[in-house]
Amino acid sequence: TLWFPLGRALNAYSRLQTGLGALHRIEEVLTLPQESDLPDTPAAGALSVRERTGPAAGGSASAPPPPAIEFDHVAFGYAGGETVLKDVSLVVPRGTRTALVGPSGAGKSTLLSLVERFYDVTSGSVRVDGTDVRELPRPVLRHRLGYVEQSAPVLAGTVRDNLALAAPDATDEDMREVLRSVNLENVIMRAPLGLDTQVGEGGVLLSGGERQRLALARTFLAAPPIMLLDEATSNLDARNEVLMRDAIGSVTADRTLLVVAHRLSTVVDSDQIVVLERGEVVAVGRHDELADTSPLYRELAAHQLLIK
Ligand code: ATP
Repeated sequence: TLWFPLGRALNAYSRLQTGLGALHRIEEVLTLPQESDLPDTPAAGALSVRERTGPAAGGSASAPPPPAIEFDHVAFGYAGGETVLKDVSLVVPRGTRTALVGPSGAGKSTLLSLVERFYDVTSGSVRVDGTDVRELPRPVLRHRLGYVEQSAPVLAGTVRDNLALAAPDATDEDMREVLRSVNLENVIMRAPLGLDTQVGEGGVLLSGGERQRLALARTFLAAPPIMLLDEATSNLDARNEVLMRDAIGSVTADRTLLVVAHRLSTVVDSDQIVVLERGEVVAVGRHDELADTSPLYRELAAHQLLIK
């Protein structure tokens, strides 16, 4: 996924000695056609990166900063398909953690993909730091957002290659630090080659949880202020779940996090939980509130969120 400037990514990418499977995966990620085909509005071209990467634009000293992410009456359907999201309005305040929960197919992952602008809304708007994402130049949007998807792509190549993809200038110490923060330092540094350990195809086989934590480390190195996370639904044993939760906690402290949550631990720790059902927001609140007021949330918590 495009959480780093494309040029850098391609540089790192071309340096890698990779297995074909991972190559295809990355290529697929880098060339998502629906994303690159979406035009920026004319206004987007007029905004420089500098103007848009500073503190939130548009507010006077006394005005509160705009929310990190705002969905404003968003409707969306995939081409040729039914409406997946219907009139979703939702505010994700800065520096807070919002969890999206709901039955399978409710539209949670789709909602995340609209922020990243893999697709454009059918109607309504998605705003990041107060600006419609269609008006933000892509490098700016990518600079603001980090997206860690469920099956996080780990490149065949070394740990160093994987991390350098996000931050080509990172030092070994930066890399060790970020691995420490996602609880991977012991796993990696215990290996004889350390950061030069091969991972991915033909290398050390990482577990699902370790792959996602490596992807998290990569995103963390890029240090985006807003993180979008699609939690893995499988491959996490209880220990990995705890490690993942701790990693997310340390990585996202002081950042805005919007997460598609499949685990009760993630949900309980959230500032705000949004319950989606068939493309609509049916409840918003904290865990205790929703446990009292939302029958669907209770059902999810009892079944889906507790069952791996
Ligand atoms: P889950 O918890 O199972 O991941 P979800 O709530 O994240 O589900 P989405 O993945 O957003 O749900 O899917 C919402 C609906 O959109 C589903 O009916 C799904 O089949 C459809 N859908 C998802 N991705 C695409 C796509 N790329 N093209 C067409 N339809 C899609």
